[in-house]
This record gives sequence, structure tokens and C-alpha cells, in this order.
Amino acid sequence: MTQDWNISSAIQTYRTDRWGAGYFNINDQGEMEAYPEQDHQSISLPLVMKMAAERGIHSPCLIRFQNILRHRLRAINESFEKAISEIGYQGYYRGVFPIKVNQLREVVEETLDAGKPYHFGIEVGSKPELIIALALHEDPESLLICNGYKDRSFIELALSGVKLNKKTFIVLEKVDELDQIIDCAQRLKMKPILGVRLRLQTKGSGRWALSGGEGAKFGLSTSELMVVIEKLKSIGWEECLKLIHFHVGSQISDINQCAQAVKEGARYYAKLRKMGFQLEYVDIGGGAGIDYDGSRTSTDSSINYTIEEFSTSVVQSLYSICEDEKVPHPAIVSECGRALVAYHSVLVVEAFGTIQKSNGAMTEPGPDADKIVHQIYELSEHFDQENRRATLHQAQNLKEEASTRFGVGLLSLEDKAAVESGFWHLAAQFAEAFSPEESTLPEVIELKEQLGVQYVCNFSVFQSLIDYWALGQLFPICPIHHLNQAPNREASIADITCDSDGKIDHFIGEGAATRRIPLHQGVGAPYWIGFFLMGAYQDVMGDIHNLFGSVPEVHVFLDEDEPEGFYIEEIVPGHSIGDVLEDVQYQPIQLTRQLKKQVDEAIQSDLMRPNEGMALLHQYNEMMKKSTYLTLNGSDHQ
Ligand code: PLP
Repeated sequence: MTQDWNISSAIQTYRTDRWGAGYFNINDQGEMEAYPEQDHQSISLPLVMKMAAERGIHSPCLIRFQNILRHRLRAINESFEKAISEIGYQGYYRGVFPIKVNQLREVVEETLDAGKPYHFGIEVGSKPELIIALALHEDPESLLICNGYKDRSFIELALSGVKLNKKTFIVLEKVDELDQIIDCAQRLKMKPILGVRLRLQTKGSGRWALSGGEGAKFGLSTSELMVVIEKLKSIGWEECLKLIHFHVGSQISDINQCAQAVKEGARYYAKLRKMGFQLEYVDIGGGAGIDYDGSRTSTDSSINYTIEEFSTSVVQSLYSICEDEKVPHPAIVSECGRALVAYHSVLVVEAFGTIQKSNGAMTEPGPDADKIVHQIYELSEHFDQENRRATLHQAQNLKEEASTRFGVGLLSLEDKAAVESGFWHLAAQFAEAFSPEESTLPEVIELKEQLGVQYVCNFSVFQSLIDYWALGQLFPICPIHHLNQAPNREASIADITCDSDGKIDHFIGEGAATRRIPLHQGVGAPYWIGFFLMGAYQDVMGDIHNLFGSVPEVHVFLDEDEPEGFYIEEIVPGHSIGDVLEDVQYQPIQLTRQLKKQVDEAIQSDLMRPNEGMALLHQYNEMMKKSTYLTLNGSDHQ
């Protein structure tokens, strides 16, 4: 990597100006900073980590920038309001937060608080989510939308929302939900506020495309919609149908798909209006995406529009259909989740070790070493630059031969080890020497892969980056300090789970994803790496594989009166070992009892002194209170 490294090189290498969207960039000291209001006020990420450490919180740690959440909320609402006024649209905008995207209390409360001026509401898809929403939703002007499959108790709870003066919509996902709703409402002597979810022909794109289209698992086909309509007419409840809803998938990467879906949905609205249904709302679902790789394209990890362009496209599409059909402009509801919360959280992990194949120079073999060891030593000592590929092939053959002879007992352990280190030493020389044309040869690519370093980091992919593991979703990854120094390694990242899938070897890059990321070596500990744009879905979908639990969180707020320009408002401890054990049905107290029985027996059999036994039990109990992650550099996790 270049000698003339400067901050611009760092920005270019990690593409922070592309994916950071004005919320993240690198300062002159080579530290990653957050700009929660997209203005001059900044928060240094390494400084947050140092301040968190003073309060006993160490990596892995999630930093929540509450101001970013608030800023995003304003940006979304204001972009719709601007589009409405510029286009001359006569309806208004009412956003709702789909809480499945991040149900954490702090996130929902902050969102609703920031959303008050805009009457921002909540969307739920399950009974537990509705239980949260009923309590937290307080503004009678804002909407509470109930999507998802429903049973009687879900419906009854949703109807109680109406009794509490909340605009609570029950959105039909299936035709037979209607009979249950009618029955429950009649028993409660009330009428429901109804919506219908439509199964549009238009599909989204990328990883979540199957949420839309005719094969989608949710929503009504046109003929099912007709059944619902006839039923409502037959009981004289036409006025209950107030909203149509559709959702063509998350992370819509192409703005044209969004426009197409809204136009298709708007036709349904217009036709229903003309049939006499007094529909008031068109709910366009979620789907506004995030430019994770900064490429500004319609590829899977990117989007080819801004939030302003998204809003304009939605408003314009609805406007054009309503004008065409000569029907009133409905209120526009959106369920933007990802676009609202993704930016606000960053996971910081510590790299604490490396795994690599090549271990430096090969030493000259002694006279007793097998002939094969001498042969590989000769090859590596007199590396033939001209015939480098032939040399490599010879070395590969020797390594294979050594393995075969070891397998039948004809080679000692020492000699096998010497051949292997000779091979990797030679392979490293080869990798340095290949020409740009050779770099595309499959064998060169494979060799570079094999030689690559892995940085071992204290976290779990399954707990913190589930969409990377399950769907191949890319996230921006970048060291949060030392960025004024040139990185001197290219590495992939391994987590601490005992699972070979627990690694990251696809990173955002120029054009296609790259298999390695430039990192630093020799900059001292702790070396922190940040995983960015983690706030949507990742925060809550984690899995306790290997019993690595949730990580602690620090919630940070801008404050110009503070010397550092911010303060840590709250610390949320991560899962302790005891917490995750209870999650998988162990009672810590019961485990301690079982161990104590064995300690007593060991003491009675003189295998252990009583003091040792008691110290062991004490240590065992204390550990239950500690973090599930590794304790590094003497830091003792909460
Ligand atoms: N609404 C519904 C019905 C959804 O299924 C989803 C997520 O898939 C959302 C809203 C949120 O979507 P996004 O996070 O892409 O905005």
C-alpha cells in the first residue's frame, strides 16, 4: 500500500464518503467520526469507546447515535411534505414505524418522540408487537396499523385500540380473517377500521423480492379482494374499509420498481373509490433502501435513488393515477423501517489475533532431514522468478507427496511440518512476484485466498450480522482509528464462534465485492473495527449460537456544552452468561448445586482442598454475571 497515505486515501479506500451519507467520515486525526445532524457537530467513535470503557463497557459494543435516528425521521417526513407541496398533491403524509425492524424500547420511544410533530405512528405484525404499540402509541392523530396473520385475540386487542381512541387499522392478510373480525366487532358492539393488503403483480428487487408479486405469502389477490368487498356490502359495512396496503419487499434497489408498485396500488384505490368505498389512505409499505456499498446503483446492496427521490416518485405516481381516474388524493402512509433506523447504530469489535498460513522464512534443513525437505528448501532458496509458475507447481507436487508419504508412515512429523512451511514460504514469494495478468488466473486467486490473513475479532456473526450470514447482505466495515496510517495487511475477518461460517470474507468494494479488507498491523491494542449501518433488523434478529449473547450498548447524544461535544446518555448491558443459560433452559442456581455436589465429592476424596473447592465455586458463580464474549487486555466486561 502506498507510502503517500493521507486521509483522502483512507476515505477512498474505505469509501466512507460514499456510504456514510454525511453521517460518517474520517477526521484529520484518522479517526472515524459521526455527524449525527449532517453538519459540523461530530462525535469521535474511538472517544466514545474510551468513555464507555471508563464506565466498564468494552467491545464488542453497539453505539447508538440517537440524533441520527431523529435526523432520519425528520428527513423522511420532510421529504414527503416537500414532494407533496411541490407536486400540488392534496393529501397529506402519515408515516408509521414498522417495529419489527427494531423493536428495542429505546429505539421505538426515541422514534415516537421525534415523530410527534409529524404524527408518526406504529406498524405491528404480531401480538407481542401490538402489546408494545398499544402502550407506547399515545397520539390520536397518528396511525396504528396491524399487519400480519391474526387470530381472535390479536383482533380483539386491535379492536381495543379503537376503543382507546387510537386510529387502529386491522389490515386483512387473508379473506377468512374478515369473518373473525366481524364476529369480534359485533360482540363488542363496535365497528372496526379496516385495511386490505393487496398482492400486487409488481415485485421488488434483490434479496427481498419474494415479499411481492403474485407468489407472495401475504395479501389478497384481486378475486379475493372482490370476496371481501361483497361481504362488506352484504352487511352494510362499506364505510369500515379505509385503507389499502401493499409491500413489494425491503431494500427496493431500483426507483422504477417503486413507482410501478405505487401506480399499480393506486389503480386499486381509484377503482374502489369509484365503487363507492370511502377509502382515505394508501399505505405503500416499506422498501425504501439504503446504499450500503455506496455505489448508487440498483445492485443488491445499493439503491439508485435518494430519500427525496423516493418520496417524489411515490407522490408523483399517486398524483398521476388519481388525476387520471379523477378521484380524491388519499393520505399517503409509508412503513419505512430500514431507511429510518439503519444508519443510527455501529457495532465496534476488537481484533485481537491473526490466523495465517505463511510463517516467514524457512530454516536450512539438517543432514538428517528427508530428501523432500531439502528439495523444497532448494526451491524456496533459489526462487526462480522467470519460471515462477513451474516452480510453484513443483512445490505443490512436493507438498502433496509429503502428505501421501506421511499418510502411509514414511515421513516424520518434523519433516512434514518442514515441507509445509517451505511450501507456504514459497507461495508467499510467488504471490509477491506474479504479474498483473497472472492475477486473474484461478490458481493465483486461490493461492492468494489461502495465503490471506484472517483477523480474529471478539464478536459473533450470528448474533450481530445475521443478514450477512443468511443473505449475503454487505455492510460497510472500517477500522475506527489509525486511519491516518496506511493499512499494511489485506485480511478477512473471523469471529470467535466455533463455526466455519463465522467469518466475513465479502466486503464492499469498487464495483464488485472484494474478498479482503485493508487493515493495520502493529498499531497496538485495542485495534477497533466498526461495522456500520447496523440499526435495521440486525439489532434484534441475532441468534445465540455458541451462546454468545447480545452485546452491550451505549447511547450517545450530541451536546455542545460538553467538552467532547457529546455525552453517553445510557448504557444497556449485554447478555450475561447467566442470561443466555436461562434462555436455553438452565437455571444458574441449579447448575451451581450440581457442581457443588461434585466439588464436595472431590474434597472428600482428597482430590481438592476445601479452600480450592470453595474458590472454584465462587469463580463459577461470578462468571455467570459476566459477558459471554472474551475479556481482552485485562478489561473486565460488565
Ligand atoms: N411493512 C411490511 C409489511 C414489511 O413486511 C416490512 C419489511 O419487510 C416493512 C414494512 C419494512 O420494510 P423496510 O425496512 O424495507 O422499510
